[in-house]
Amino acid sequence: HLHRTETAPRRSRLVVLAGPTAVGKGTVAAAVRDSHPDVWISVSATTRAPRPGEVDGVHYHFVSDERFDQMVADDDLLEWAVVHRAARYGTPRGPVEEALRAGRPSMLEIDLQGARQVRRTMPDALFVFLKPPSWEELVRRLVGRGTESEEERERRLVTAREELAAEPEFDVTIVNHEVRAAADDLVTLMMLDPEAAAPA
Ligand code: 5GP
Repeated sequence: HLHRTETAPRRSRLVVLAGPTAVGKGTVAAAVRDSHPDVWISVSATTRAPRPGEVDGVHYHFVSDERFDQMVADDDLLEWAVVHRAARYGTPRGPVEEALRAGRPSMLEIDLQGARQVRRTMPDALFVFLKPPSWEELVRRLVGRGTESEEERERRLVTAREELAAEPEFDVTIVNHEVRAAADDLVTLMMLDPEAAAPA
């Protein structure tokens, strides 16, 4: 049974979860959201259209190109990137800073380009790489999702190969064998003392 002592000050900690396309970052983040309401998870802004079942302000802030331009111009985004050549995604800066000020365990689920930007601006964050059990499994998941055309799948596989090579840039790797276990591993990491969680 874990408990926190009043005397041990805990520096707020930001966890950045990234990994190759189709590895299941979104699913793992959703599992954390469902089981750990104490963990604050950033809601990204995106220019892509909502998918069925997605709720504005919950899964994403769905914004127009003009609104996204304005957020960039106002420096309202901690990081942003064009993902899969399709749409822009970015992390609103204010809510992250607020959550960290409040001392909440906080998480961003973003792509690799975004993680690299945060690495530069917030090097104190803990960078977690979510990895598939194998290349074959990643291909299976990408095909199984069935949301992309053949051509798009091919393109994403090329990207995924490159993205897998980024693992050494990260502090910790979690292998996504099973969603629940990966989510639990992630939460365990988040609840560790930030100093203890630092790479050796
Ligand atoms: P999807 O459109 O399937 O929800 O997400 C596509 C990709 O965008 C995922 O790889 C996800 O990690 C990434 N993504 C989501 N939000 C952000 C964000 O705020 N910044 C960046 N850089 N990538 C994001």
